[in-house]
Amino acid sequence: MADLFIKNGLILTMEPDSFNGTVIENGAIAVTGNTIVALGKTSDLEPEYGNSKQVIDADGKIVMPGLVMTHSHMSYPLGHNMPVDFSKLTSFWDMLMKMGWEWLEDVTTDEAVYAGTRYSAMKMLKSGNTTVCETVEAPNALPGPLMASARAIEEIGIRAQVGYEITERIPGKDILKEQSQQWAEKGIRENLDFLARYPKNNGSRIEARPAIHAAFTVSEATLKKVRQIVDEHKCGVQIHISEIPRAFLVEKYGKSAPQYLEDAGLLGPDVVAGHCVDLNDEDLEILRRNDVKVSYTPMTDSLGGNPVARVPEMLEKQMNVSIGHDCFFTLDISEYMRYTYLVQKNHHHNPMVISPFQMLDMVTMQGARAMGIEDQIGSLKEGKKADIILIEPDSPSPTTAATVISYFTMTFQGQHVHTVIVDGNIVVENYKMKTVDEAEVRRTCVEEARLLWKRNGIEV
Ligand SMILES: [Zn+2]
Repeated sequence: MADLFIKNGLILTMEPDSFNGTVIENGAIAVTGNTIVALGKTSDLEPEYGNSKQVIDADGKIVMPGLVMTHSHMSYPLGHNMPVDFSKLTSFWDMLMKMGWEWLEDVTTDEAVYAGTRYSAMKMLKSGNTTVCETVEAPNALPGPLMASARAIEEIGIRAQVGYEITERIPGKDILKEQSQQWAEKGIRENLDFLARYPKNNGSRIEARPAIHAAFTVSEATLKKVRQIVDEHKCGVQIHISEIPRAFLVEKYGKSAPQYLEDAGLLGPDVVAGHCVDLNDEDLEILRRNDVKVSYTPMTDSLGGNPVARVPEMLEKQMNVSIGHDCFFTLDISEYMRYTYLVQKNHHHNPMVISPFQMLDMVTMQGARAMGIEDQIGSLKEGKKADIILIEPDSPSPTTAATVISYFTMTFQGQHVHTVIVDGNIVVENYKMKTVDEAEVRRTCVEEARLLWKRNGIEV
């Protein structure tokens, strides 16, 4: 007997790896507490676990590990569709300074972080995305936005590593004219307080993973200080790398972002790096030799008119590539999977560059590895955490062991996700959130968005 027994499902284990992962037809999983205690054929496990406290019949459904997103800003949806003057946004640089900083991050309050994070976490969970690596950005809300984020994450039920973005940018000031280590100190303090509350391996769904904005907004002194903290706490770090034109960094430092960050001693296998777009061969080699974990953000790269990341080469070099979405556009992970799968083929003029297996690997084991928790999540295996999703494929053709992998790049949509289990708890059941009132979460988010827009002089 276990706490939960899922039976008769088509189980995608992603073990021993995503390419040779065992698919079990008529499979079953037993869960006790937050841990998978047995996995196998229903006929083998039913005698022992058939009388478990809760039994889910997964007949006709795919049962698989929860999906992983490695770069997000969960309060960003408050800025979705804000009626701003788009004529002011002529480049990625404008988008970052105006849209990202002035109109969004600098006017984000603790309440906004809480409301936006609840909404994002809810939408992500409902699309089968059970784990996220989150960077919080709200300089004028310091101190406190990390706890506002954690409160939302606790409530909704997603698994997360969360950090506050350390930057020497002064809100309202041009970074080309002035930067301040004191602002970085505020961010460092916020992360240290959070590390004290959510250290590595604290047993909960939340862990602290400090964040740094980017090479061009922090000094070497700040980078060294953060590296020391990260080493002491063994918590890993997250950062944006090469998301703006390489030439800008070379003009500022005489080095590219990877060169600058390597020289400062920041790079290593515990770095999750968002974007990694404008890289030359040497930059790519620097990221490879430091085993930096790349979080590819296909849609935001496209939005900014940026280059397409060199993902096939990264995969060829055995680099770890997972997927990020920045919380722009929808929060449905299936869209980022399909977009990655297609835009890379398109850009490289080669239909073979990413296989459906590789795509699925990026949002399961590669995501788990990026976050340093591959021993806990990313695949279904006895002893691993019970982060499990059940999908009812709305597919025009049979879903079998032979077809299930290509379903994910061809037809899968977040709305096919029927049940979501995180840390042994059922958080989505029969397509509905169990932890919160969905309408209330959306209402609160819309209200906070209205208030945020008002701070920009926009009344709706
Ligand atoms: Zn980002």
